[in-house]
Amino acid sequence: MTDRPICLITGGSTGIGAACAILAAKRGYDIVLNYRSDHASAEQTQTKVIAAGGRCALAPGDVADPEDIARIYKVVDDTFGRIDALINNAGIVGQSARLTEIDHDRLRRMFDVNVIGAMLVAREAVIRMETQGEGVVINISSAAARLGSGNQYLDYAASKAAIDTFTKGLSDEVAGQGIRVLSVRPGIIDTPIHGKGGEPDRADRLGPVVPLGRKGSPDEVAAAILWLLSDEASYITGTTLDVTGGR
Ligand code: NAP
Repeated sequence: MTDRPICLITGGSTGIGAACAILAAKRGYDIVLNYRSDHASAEQTQTKVIAAGGRCALAPGDVADPEDIARIYKVVDDTFGRIDALINNAGIVGQSARLTEIDHDRLRRMFDVNVIGAMLVAREAVIRMETQGEGVVINISSAAARLGSGNQYLDYAASKAAIDTFTKGLSDEVAGQGIRVLSVRPGIIDTPIHGKGGEPDRADRLGPVVPLGRKGSPDEVAAAILWLLSDEASYITGTTLDVTGGR
């Protein structure tokens, strides 16, 4: 057990989740780090969290699988015995395609991971936070939720819009139990997700289109998330924060 607050981060092996883990450790959190498949990157992030002064338990698992979610929370419960913050970050994107090219399997997987997985992970956090009488949930949405992403990946955009609506509904449900719930909408951020969607140079290509004239870094998104987790944001719940360079 530990006196430091505990933060569970889903999808923490790379990108925004990894940046959050390292910054959270610097701000005093101990970390439970979930990821699905990239064990080497998860271990590298774990090493950086420990170097930043935090404890870090790895909790591999697919957030689309309820049995894996149970295993993730077993790590939370057995290692730390509480959860103060959830960064509900794990997410996937597909190859650029129009709706007519997107099949049922892709839609199911998109919503199983990005929506149902996020809701089930949040559900387990809230069960524990209600007992504790406090906690913060940050759901990672996307600017795509309001842009729609037609001709790119409207299935992804629709999944993130669902996250914003879920954020508002859950925040209303749990505000009375001392739990804040927010979503953060990153814009064009330089992470491996673009390569997974078949376009590794996407952030470089679109950066100049952003009003601030550049792509964002995972550290810039993590800074916003850690602020929302902090007591400085104690009167903020049920809303979304764009971290998009103005896009
Ligand atoms: P990333 O580097 O690809 O990271 C995604 C993380 O999610 C990885 O740790 C990955 O684990 C994990 N993951 C994927 N599917 C999972 C599953 N089923 N169960 C558990 N973990 C899973 O991408 P990122 O850009 O940091 O994305 C983080 C979040 O930000 C996502 O929700 C994404 O939609 C959102 N976002 C990103 C951008 C952007 O421009 N980068 C913009 C808007 C929103 P493994 O690699 O180990 O499988």
